[in-house]
Amino acid sequence: MKTASSVVAEILQVLLEEAKEGMSTNDLDRKAEELIKKKGAVSAFKGYSGFPKVLCASVNEEIVHGIPDDRVLKSGDIVGLDFGVHIDGWYGDSAVTVPIGKISPEASKLIKITEESLYKGIEAAVPGNRLGDIGFAVQNHAESNGYGVVRDFVGHGIGRALHEDPQVPNYGKKGTGMLLEPGMVLAIEPMITAGSYKVKVLKNNWTAVTTDGSLAAHFEHTIAVTEKGPVILSDRAKL
Ligand code: MG
Ligand code: MG
Repeated sequence: MKTASSVVAEILQVLLEEAKEGMSTNDLDRKAEELIKKKGAVSAFKGYSGFPKVLCASVNEEIVHGIPDDRVLKSGDIVGLDFGVHIDGWYGDSAVTVPIGKISPEASKLIKITEESLYKGIEAAVPGNRLGDIGFAVQNHAESNGYGVVRDFVGHGIGRALHEDPQVPNYGKKGTGMLLEPGMVLAIEPMITAGSYKVKVLKNNWTAVTTDGSLAAHFEHTIAVTEKGPVILSDRAKL
């Protein structure tokens, strides 16, 4: 999972640097597919329950599971890029929300707080804590900034499959839920909205959007719980 997650990190780093005004989300998907081949990895998303692309690209009020298409990104957009691969049967999964051109201060703050919420959740992923401590940390940071925490989609265990037990909600009560133990690998992925946390799925059966049209952001890392604390397997900072 270290190998798979570092490939995910490397490719996401390229995508977030390349995502610019005038590009379509299909352009980003094609780039991602080319890089997957180069790395000898296999997409975790393409073909997953029929998902047609290697990348999820969710623009503005889209929260997650946006299907790349010929929509062109414009200045002021924010785009969530969610990406996963497997190598030798082990999975890695990570997501980032990227500003396109000049974005509003509101959008910029939403991105910042969502990423911070992810790191608060990761900090809580230590042996002896429980799943609810992760959810509480994410929720507390997002809600204290006036944001909504999406309930309908959650993080997950990851390993030989993209989505394994347990579910890792971005909300919760301290000291509740499954005990965290060294060796567990989790994908923690806050989905945070500037308005209501209510979600609706579009007619394509994939794209989840906010019901009130408010902006949404999404960050995700694959992390390992160890005796020495959480290790971020998909860390882009260590590339
Ligand atoms: Mg993901
Ligand atoms: Mg995930």
